[in-house]
Amino acid sequence: MNARTNLLDLDADGMAGWCAEHGEKAFRATQLLRWIHRSGVADFGAMTTLARSLRERLADTAEVRELPVSSDHTSDDGTRKWLLDVGAGDAVETVFIPEARRGTLCISTQAGCAVNCRFCSTGKQGFSRNLTTGEIIGQLWLANRKLGAVAKGGEEDGERVISNVVLMGMGEPLLNYQPTLSALRLMLDDNAYGLSRRRVTLSTSGVVPMMDRLRDDCPVALAVSLHASNDALRDELVPLNRKYPLRELLAACNRYLDRAPRDFVTFEYVMLDGINDGDGHARELVSLVRDTPCKFNLIPFNGFPGAGLKGSSRDRIRAFGETLLQAGIVTTIRKTRGDDIDAACGQLAGAVRDRTRLAERGTRIVPLVGERRTVGAGA
Ligand code: SAH
Ligand code: SF4
Repeated sequence: MNARTNLLDLDADGMAGWCAEHGEKAFRATQLLRWIHRSGVADFGAMTTLARSLRERLADTAEVRELPVSSDHTSDDGTRKWLLDVGAGDAVETVFIPEARRGTLCISTQAGCAVNCRFCSTGKQGFSRNLTTGEIIGQLWLANRKLGAVAKGGEEDGERVISNVVLMGMGEPLLNYQPTLSALRLMLDDNAYGLSRRRVTLSTSGVVPMMDRLRDDCPVALAVSLHASNDALRDELVPLNRKYPLRELLAACNRYLDRAPRDFVTFEYVMLDGINDGDGHARELVSLVRDTPCKFNLIPFNGFPGAGLKGSSRDRIRAFGETLLQAGIVTTIRKTRGDDIDAACGQLAGAVRDRTRLAERGTRIVPLVGERRTVGAGA
């Protein structure tokens, strides 16, 4: 057991609480946040603006716990993927995607995922555990260091190599609410990463009650993984739909938009050949989202061993997008990045131990490779 406090677990309130508990003045919390997150410093001895007594106390009782990197790959297109060891056989992935005018970091919130979407390799692995705040924000902390984007001396700004963060890696962020919330608050905090709400996007498969909580607690840009134009099909593709069907999900999107930093929701839609990609589906979508200001992001399906699914052709994706565009819905087709290093959406396959199924079935289950289930074809 590691008894030291991991300071990466603490957002501004948490850090203020830690300082109060240790008889330190409130401004020390700000200094600590800046040293850790803006300067990327882990060594308390190097935090020169702190009193020596505080540095000594920190060295005795606290740490900035860096996630061990198991692998670090850069794709031909510049996409960089880190596989991070989160202990006990679990690993998660973080992906940096450089583009002309922005750099996006895609981070994970859980080891595995319990939602078990039909087309997602993370879902196929099952759920192991929630990441802590320190493990979620630790991905941004680490990527900033690896990319050389940290400020010097805790005061100046580092180069903003990472301009955007998307919670689109492994896991369902809204099923790991409190740690995700603290990590989001650090992302927005000027003493930490100072990102604008518009540049932080949380992607959810549609955990309706938690969408309402996020709206109240920390509204950032919202992406919703829709993937289907009716409940029968979505029940099969995104099993969470059985609990929170489309009507409730869209109502939650509209409530979220009252407070959102952007005036639209981004709907993600993985294009699956013969399953959800027909003209009829496109027309059904148009009427489904009639009352919800939105954009569509059509995602080419990224295959993985045992998926048992095929992605739609380029032409089909284009034709599908055309139907949405003609109805006045802004639609983009996601460029696949980092495919050669398996860093594309849904390929993030940092091995996890499926503890749910372990507990449920009382036996160690190997990942569901080769499994094939019938999906409501072209419903
Ligand atoms: N759990 C959240 C966030 C992580 S998944 C969610 O589902 O929204 C991030 C995005 O990757 C989602 O839109 C998801 O549907 C998509 N995705 C999952 N598997 C994929 C695959 N095999 N090919 C393309 N996109 C995939
Ligand atoms: Fe979980 Fe998202 Fe994958 Fe669905 S798509 S299994 S919610 S990570």
